Amino acid sequence: MEKLSIEDIELKDKKVLMRVDFNVPLNKEGKISDDTRIRASLPSIKYILDKGASLILISHLGRPKGKVVEELRMNPVAHRLEEILQKRVLKLNDCVGEKVRETIEKMEKGDIVLLENTRFHKEEEENDPHFAKELADLGDIFVNDAFGTAHRSHASTVGVAKFLPSAMGFLMKKEIKVLGKILTSPDVPFIAILGGAKVSDKIGLLCNLLDKCESILIGGAMSYTFLKAKGIDVGKSLWEKNKIDEAKRILEDAHRNKRCKIFLPLDHIVAKKAEEEIDTKSVKQNGISSDYMALDIGPETIKLFKRIINEAKTIFWNGPMGVFEIKEFAKGTEAIAKELANSKASVVVGGGDSIAVLKRLDLEDKITFISTGGGASLKFLEGRVLPGVEAINVKRERQKTGLKNRIKGLKKQD
Ligand code: AMP
Repeated sequence: MEKLSIEDIELKDKKVLMRVDFNVPLNKEGKISDDTRIRASLPSIKYILDKGASLILISHLGRPKGKVVEELRMNPVAHRLEEILQKRVLKLNDCVGEKVRETIEKMEKGDIVLLENTRFHKEEEENDPHFAKELADLGDIFVNDAFGTAHRSHASTVGVAKFLPSAMGFLMKKEIKVLGKILTSPDVPFIAILGGAKVSDKIGLLCNLLDKCESILIGGAMSYTFLKAKGIDVGKSLWEKNKIDEAKRILEDAHRNKRCKIFLPLDHIVAKKAEEEIDTKSVKQNGISSDYMALDIGPETIKLFKRIINEAKTIFWNGPMGVFEIKEFAKGTEAIAKELANSKASVVVGGGDSIAVLKRLDLEDKITFISTGGGASLKFLEGRVLPGVEAINVKRERQKTGLKNRIKGLKKQD
């Protein structure tokens, strides 16, 4: 069912409480090393302010596990947001409590307040209803623009929506639209390229995509669990013993349903260790000897994957093809990234490592859509309902036909 979006509600003179995903990476000096997530929420921030509302932003940052961690305060985020917006952002030292309430009460339209890291309170991850109510009491309307945490049932993503009229922000809306199209009506052939270390993280996704994709290309360490399941020796390569049965089942399902073909590496770049400047060699699919580990896809595999990419109309990519952090084993992942950048298909990329490679090669602008939510995008494409999305109010028929709901009296709809 279609969800309410910020365009559907009257924002003038309201206090808007917006959950954003400002969980940005920080370097050793505590400086933001990548502000993509802050920039991704700018359309919603600007829209809300332009409509004459005041804005209370909430987010988590890192994993403070329910207590105050000085290095994980939101201060650097507030500074960066001020720089970008060229506007004052008042950062508070908590997200609930008397002082916060007093400040919020005094807010005027156009003001922005950034609350402290929600995960400083253990009640956040417990989705504690009292804590959620305290957050909700700060605003008149709740907007969720944090797609990256939509797969978590937390107080600031799900709990708060029980107490306030709630709507999606522009980022949330775009993510759901793009990923939803992939699941329901992709231009075909639709292919998925999956890599990374753990099969376990991607089993659900693989199962769901078997019915939707024409081809699934598997690289990275996860491919060795599949090769092992086929009886191929993988030497010292990383593989997951307790996922062999599931890998076998997935390969059999793909073979049986005939709709989707799974492609595994035809050859590998191997070495004795995953280290810089180590001797490497290229070997055939069944040529990994017992003292070697496969750390990247080989040239034959790159050629095969490129050919399939070129025939595709829709492509989803998540996960590196090898240990891309080390130059010697980055070629496979980089070749895939470059091919995707040149592809005419609609290309959607999710997951931190894949995005890091695109950034390193300065190819982000050549990709149709980069999802800001790694885990959330995987869960969405598994076909799961994301709790953070489910909690948002449904758009009513009369809104769909163009009559905007003014949410008079600010009653919750559903
Ligand atoms: P994941 O978090 O499951 O997406 O895994 C990402 C990690 O997988 C990266 O740090 C890669 O270095 C690692 N990786 C990819 N391919 C391999 C491989 N063949 N052997 C060991 N690690 C790998």
